[in-house]
Amino acid sequence: MSDGTDTPAGVMRAAAEEQLDVVALTDHDTVSGWSEAEAEASRVGLRFVPGIEISTRSRGLSVHLLAYWPRADDAELLAMMARTRDERVGRAREIVRRVSRDYPITWEAVTAHSESAETLGRPHIADALVAAGVMSNRDAAFTEVLHDGSPYYVPHYAPEALDAVRAVRAGGGVPAFAHPGADGRGRVVPTSEIDAMARAGLVGIEVEHRDHSDGQRERLARIADRLGLVPLGASDYHGAGKLNRLGENLTTPEAFAALEAARA
Ligand code: AMP
Repeated sequence: MSDGTDTPAGVMRAAAEEQLDVVALTDHDTVSGWSEAEAEASRVGLRFVPGIEISTRSRGLSVHLLAYWPRADDAELLAMMARTRDERVGRAREIVRRVSRDYPITWEAVTAHSESAETLGRPHIADALVAAGVMSNRDAAFTEVLHDGSPYYVPHYAPEALDAVRAVRAGGGVPAFAHPGADGRGRVVPTSEIDAMARAGLVGIEVEHRDHSDGQRERLARIADRLGLVPLGASDYHGAGKLNRLGENLTTPEAFAALEAARA
């Protein structure tokens, strides 16, 4: 329901085909895919974990905060995400305005690629560039036009990471830091910020992730150990929108049990 290319039910079917046994759906800033995914997971015999990937910020840097099992009707979290989704629209318009100076792209083309999305993001702009025939795929569009350091880049409002960690906890959910060592995407937050997030109630941290080098995996495993955070593995699957294969990085049963034990 955000920037993946499969439907929520389609993700569950793909997970069953990969013979996974537990799978979380973590759309950006929305819970609207949960019911469809949960029904399909139950039909194909998968354990479903409802989740969200909340866009947050820390010292001006983007932090993706995963929330597992938050209450679907938690007013604070819902309001936080509604504001982010709204403000993403104006931000996407501004990116499109800038990109259209140099590439054949219109706002109408972007909205045509995001009709079923609750949360609008740069991947939808990438899709419009691919459809216009000027980029071969999303990855190329990010590398050449849409990356964080590009002159076309515009940030969007997002809550502070520490506030979001506290809100997830208050809403009964289990917060985890998504791909904290993905330094190929831009600057990552310093270790001191992970310490602060842990003090605010962070429970898990992704260690095994495609965008983490071996060095980052070692660093994050050490941080997890020192702070008592649950080390997680995640495929960050986006359907055809990214190269990531479903199940390419896994969370161990022990880590999953520790994550679940932290549920309110
Ligand atoms: P936004 O939320 O609009 O800032 O865009 C971030 C989204 O773009 C995240 O879901 C990323 O997974 C996705 N993204 C970042 N880099 C790439 C890439 N190289 N190829 C495809 N998707 C990407």
